[in-house]
Amino acid sequence: MSKIGIIGGGIIGLSSAYYLNQSGHDITVIDSGDLQNGCSHGNAGMIVPSHFIPLAAPGMVAKGIRWMFNSSSPFYVKPRLHGDLLRWGFLFLKNANEKHVAAAIPALKELSLLSKIHYQQLARDLPFNFGYHERGLLMLYQTQEAEREESETAHRANDIGITAKILSGEEVQQLEPHVKVNVRGGIYFPGDAHLTPHQLFNGLKLYLQRAGVTFVPHSAVSKFEFHGNSIQSVLAGDHFFSLDQIVLAAGSWSGLIAKQLALTLPMQGGKGYSFTLPEVEKNVQIPSIFLEARVAVTPMENSLRFGGTMEIAGLNHSVNLKRVKGIVDSIPKYYPEMKVGMPLVENVWHGLRPCSPDGLPYIGRSTKIKNLVIATGHSMMGLSLAPATGKLVSEIIDEKKTSMALTAFSPERFQR
Ligand SMILES: Cc1cc2nc3c(=O)[nH]c(=O)nc-3n(C[C@H](O)[C@H](O)[C@H](O)COP(=O)(O)OP(=O)(O)OC[C@H]3O[C@@H](n4cnc5c(N)ncnc54)[C@H](O)[C@@H]3O)c2cc1C
Repeated sequence: MSKIGIIGGGIIGLSSAYYLNQSGHDITVIDSGDLQNGCSHGNAGMIVPSHFIPLAAPGMVAKGIRWMFNSSSPFYVKPRLHGDLLRWGFLFLKNANEKHVAAAIPALKELSLLSKIHYQQLARDLPFNFGYHERGLLMLYQTQEAEREESETAHRANDIGITAKILSGEEVQQLEPHVKVNVRGGIYFPGDAHLTPHQLFNGLKLYLQRAGVTFVPHSAVSKFEFHGNSIQSVLAGDHFFSLDQIVLAAGSWSGLIAKQLALTLPMQGGKGYSFTLPEVEKNVQIPSIFLEARVAVTPMENSLRFGGTMEIAGLNHSVNLKRVKGIVDSIPKYYPEMKVGMPLVENVWHGLRPCSPDGLPYIGRSTKIKNLVIATGHSMMGLSLAPATGKLVSEIIDEKKTSMALTAFSPERFQR
């Protein structure tokens, strides 16, 4: 049994704690906040094997440039002369090509499918309901351009064994009996799933507490003490914790912590917003993405969540209501009979997605610091990929053969 400290109590930290606890370790999860202020609560709850193409892909650069000049657009990079952002941008551009995409697809697909299997297992094993449903995902489009792009993705999906069906507008409508849908068509991915993120998070935290995992909130990790090339203890708040193994799972803040450890882990926070309609009488049945607007829509039992935007604008918690308005304005375009007003600012949730520059997570052991395992950078798919990541972290720490090859996720792939 090892004493393991997990830095960051988001869904990646909790999933790692779950599988490490199953292996019988003594676990402490340390968080700078109250474990409610990360990215893992108000997200869209989608489990997405359909998302096998990483964010750093050829079309994204042109779209990003087009969107950047529109204040309510779904994607925004705040121009700043900051070394970390410039290097991140350079690495993003370097990876946004077909060669990188082709190399990333098999790894992302395998990680996603592994995670889905673990979600199915968790839905059976955990003693609480977290709203897990396997109803698939609809990618909805209104324009010919989006239809062409998404149909290409659908063909590519079918080629690699992920079922995708190209539907007409009428066929989409048949899948949504209670809500009028105004689309040219859609791609249906029947293998996707969804859940209610805060139910999973809060249930898992309570379950882990009862299983003996210690949580240390309001204690930012700020200093490390070394013995040789191993971390011996970490300073969190005003306490030193002596640890055998450390898991760095601090989401968007992991890059800053890695810097303290003299490691290179390029990371930017990609801010997104969501708001939830609490009681919807005639609800959407299948989680959907409005493709042109990049808005995600997820039914969570009787409620309905809308989420979107990706703002690369630093690690801060400011709320840009113009972008929230962009989400609100998209709703009647796709659901013409749904009337949704602007939410009050206190009802708008925001989260910072931990974005690596090539769209792939960082999962693996550091070769420079012997007892450090890194698990972060999951960008828009952290919830989806959490169980597989947690399982892999436990396998790395237990020195078992990992469930899949980890080369594509090496935390040292951008080491200078
Ligand atoms: C609008 C929106 C919709 C999304 N929808 C989906 C979706 O449908 N499906 C999906 O898979 N993903 C989705 N995501 C992405 C997903 O939410 C994230 O990828 C995921 O939550 C990241 O989890 P994490 O544990 O890595 O980070 P976080 O949840 O951010 O946790 C990191 C934790 O580290 C802590 N921390 C930071 N610094 C320190 C320090 N110095 N010491 C100790 N602790 C520290 C923070 O307080 C925080 O609690 C969405 C995101 C957004 C914004």
